[in-house]
Amino acid sequence: MAMIELKNLTKTYPEQQRPAVFNVNLAVEEKAIITLLGPSGCGKTTLLRLIAGFERPDSGEVVLNGHTVAGKGIWLPPEKRGLGMVFQDYALFPHLSVEKNIGFGYRGKDKKEQIRSMLERVDLAGYEKRQPYELSGGQQQRVALARALIRNPVVVLFDEPFSSLDAKMREQMRGDLKRILKTAQTTAIFVSHDQKDALAISDEIVVIRQGVIQQQGSPVEIYRYPENRFVATFVGRSNLLQGTVAESGQAVDTAIGTIPCHHIHHHLPGDNVFLSVRPDGLRLAPEGSLIGQIQDLTYSGERYQAVVRIQTTDGQSVDLISHIHARHGVCLGNQIRFEVLPEFTAVIQDDGDGHPAG
Ligand code: ATP
Repeated sequence: MAMIELKNLTKTYPEQQRPAVFNVNLAVEEKAIITLLGPSGCGKTTLLRLIAGFERPDSGEVVLNGHTVAGKGIWLPPEKRGLGMVFQDYALFPHLSVEKNIGFGYRGKDKKEQIRSMLERVDLAGYEKRQPYELSGGQQQRVALARALIRNPVVVLFDEPFSSLDAKMREQMRGDLKRILKTAQTTAIFVSHDQKDALAISDEIVVIRQGVIQQQGSPVEIYRYPENRFVATFVGRSNLLQGTVAESGQAVDTAIGTIPCHHIHHHLPGDNVFLSVRPDGLRLAPEGSLIGQIQDLTYSGERYQAVVRIQTTDGQSVDLISHIHARHGVCLGNQIRFEVLPEFTAVIQDDGDGHPAG
């Protein structure tokens, strides 16, 4: 069953021309972790606030666990929605110990027992007497999560929870949070502008631009098969080539040759299309049909990011980005042969702008 359903949700702030959220339809399954991903100002926080009840929609409905909480003349305030929230700055009470922060406002008779169980769940057993300032950023965040989980929420909402952590802590926190949420079998919605966070933690990613959902899918689907130009360039990097769908319907004819592609939906042979080729889809291969010269090379530990210049059939050239494993030991100026892996190619719509004019 869907734990959260958003139906035709629209919100325009006063004196704003453009809706912050426009006609959003979304279903989040029970126990799923999803991320609302998009650039600054795309409306993801507004969407989270509409779910939480900090904003009222102009139209549409918010349904939580089968109950309409906003829409059709119905309005439930945030405290009645049964949600947990974890904010960017954790919002802990600085003068209260860890256990008091976790138990704050909890009225059950089993309070002590619950606090102990939550501390174990977030790997903070033994830290109950500490003050927030005696904890690292990641530990403070786990206290905030324990405080949310103790109420047994239907969904936990996370607003940019990784943004104040350094890179290493961030990576660890992504793993910790995912594990804790999966163990607790909690449905969770994250808001993020960081594709790495989204790809690492989510079962599903919802990419948003200008208040409109661009694509929803698993991290692998979103990365490998972006549906439009915006998703292809916002989530990871992509090479975009113009072409026409080949006779076979399983490839695209482009200026650098015929590129295999199994992800050609809604298009027929002969249609003009754009093809997205992820850098991981260009693989060094001695028998590969494409020949290019390395124009630029950036080393990042396990792999290089290379810019490869390829001659087109009409005597021009295009530069493609490729990820090359460091063991190949390539150098600037090398001529290389490579092949294109179809699992990293997708035909996209030429524009992700489904937004109304104005
Ligand atoms: P960020 O990552 O920067 O927080 P966001 O994707 O979360 O951005 P929102 O905060 O939802 O985006 O904002 C969406 C749009 O609505 C923006 O154009 C923003 O300026 C506008 N907006 C947000 N809050 C208000 C408000 N209270 N009053 C008026 N306009 C607002």
